[in-house]
Amino acid sequence: MSRKTLNSSKGTKGKICGRLAVLPSMPLDILLEIFGHLRPIDLLQLSRANKALNKIMMSNSGVSLWKAARRNIPAFPETPGDMSDAEWVHLIFETNCHGPGCKKKGIRKIDWALRIRGCERCWKENVVWSGRFAQQFPELELEVMQLLPYSSTGGWAYRYLSNNQFYWRPAILALSKVLDEYTKNIQLRKPGAEAAVNAFRKVQAARAETAVKYASVCKAWESDAADNRRKTLQILSDDRIHEVSARFMNLGWSSEHVEELKRHNLVRQSKELTERVWVNIRPQLEKELQKRRYNRRRTDICILFEDYLVKNWGDGLRNLFWGIIDMIDIASLKDIVKTDGTHDLSPNELDQCRDLLPAWADEWLEWARKQILAKIPSTVEEPKETPGNSRVELATSTLTCCFGHGPQYWPEIVAHKCFYNLKFPQVVYDPGLSAIIQSVVHAVGLSPDVATPFQLDAHDVRLKCASTESCVTMGGMSWRDAVEHCSTRHDGKASPSWCLDRGVP
Ligand SMILES: [Zn+2]
Ligand SMILES: [Zn+2]
Ligand SMILES: [Zn+2]
Repeated sequence: MSRKTLNSSKGTKGKICGRLAVLPSMPLDILLEIFGHLRPIDLLQLSRANKALNKIMMSNSGVSLWKAARRNIPAFPETPGDMSDAEWVHLIFETNCHGPGCKKKGIRKIDWALRIRGCERCWKENVVWSGRFAQQFPELELEVMQLLPYSSTGGWAYRYLSNNQFYWRPAILALSKVLDEYTKNIQLRKPGAEAAVNAFRKVQAARAETAVKYASVCKAWESDAADNRRKTLQILSDDRIHEVSARFMNLGWSSEHVEELKRHNLVRQSKELTERVWVNIRPQLEKELQKRRYNRRRTDICILFEDYLVKNWGDGLRNLFWGIIDMIDIASLKDIVKTDGTHDLSPNELDQCRDLLPAWADEWLEWARKQILAKIPSTVEEPKETPGNSRVELATSTLTCCFGHGPQYWPEIVAHKCFYNLKFPQVVYDPGLSAIIQSVVHAVGLSPDVATPFQLDAHDVRLKCASTESCVTMGGMSWRDAVEHCSTRHDGKASPSWCLDRGVP
């Protein structure tokens, strides 16, 4: 790393300078006392803040300061002999890419053998696979490889190559430059030149070997440190969840309600819950708790209402859940649902709802009747025997859903989502469907002027289609199947004709 990199954080320099100006004049033991609690990265930043401090930190007397800072991080790996403390700390704490000229930050992975961080692009450009060394550096002898540390992982571009060696191009170039100097001296026949290059090679080879060995020590430390950090964060997060839960339970919420908050991103954080944070997050969490409470209260009323409808109007109105949920927003029960507090529906409130249900159901069904009646064109003659509103209950008054959901019989229609959704009323009267139903009602043996789906169900007659030759075998149909069959299979192309299917009990 160049000196320029070490002095790169200019932004904070001015501010810190004033306050730190006095530090360098202090004796080393006092500095040790003051800096004793700092982490290595703090020391690195201090060294950039002030020229005099930088001088101390890079000098021999700075060694004890770095040592003290390293001790503040458990098992922090010692600075390798061929690197300065500042370079080592820069590698471990700062995420800059070490590729030539690259300004990328946030590179998470350290290559401990090459002692660099490299972005994907710089890796691709600068990593040299041992198998291509000769090809890429034809002017260098292969022995040069033994003087350089190597990584055993080549990154994404070389992911299929295992047990190989990867070298860092800038390191190769730097070494080759030094070797050139030595060679020049030998060519100039300088005294001791040969011995000097041999000594240099020996030292380099030893360093390379040490670097590769030390890499595994550092990797193990890195992985332990990451584990410990994960554990610490988990503990912090658990504590915060626990604290938030306890506070809401003190405010009257039950443990089940609070349980639902545990995944909330304001709760599940690895940060201490200070008073200030609590004041900030409380309103949003309370809103969430109230929203869930509102949904539960609404659901409880829906279940109550469904039971009532099924009891009074038959099983066709079961599973209306979602339909009723929407209805509650326009009904008088809203006030009960929205009552302030932290509790779910109390037995008292449930009784109140039960008292309100009959009137509410009447109101709802009355609304539904009006909607249906408005859809039946005035040209359709009113049956003499069943005039007025109850006319909508006739099988022949059945509407059909334009979204392909087929005929919607009374009373199930009130629960059909395309019907009660006032924004998209897509259920219409279809004279063709009405004619088919009329034919089926006749076949069953009832009068279309009075027959309701309920009566037709009660008759439980099986029909056979006789509309076309090919359909004669279609037997065993309920009246509803018959309507469905005729409207989908014949689609108005053949006039409906039925006979009773006596083959089926
Ligand atoms: Zn890069
Ligand atoms: Zn529909
Ligand atoms: Zn048919």
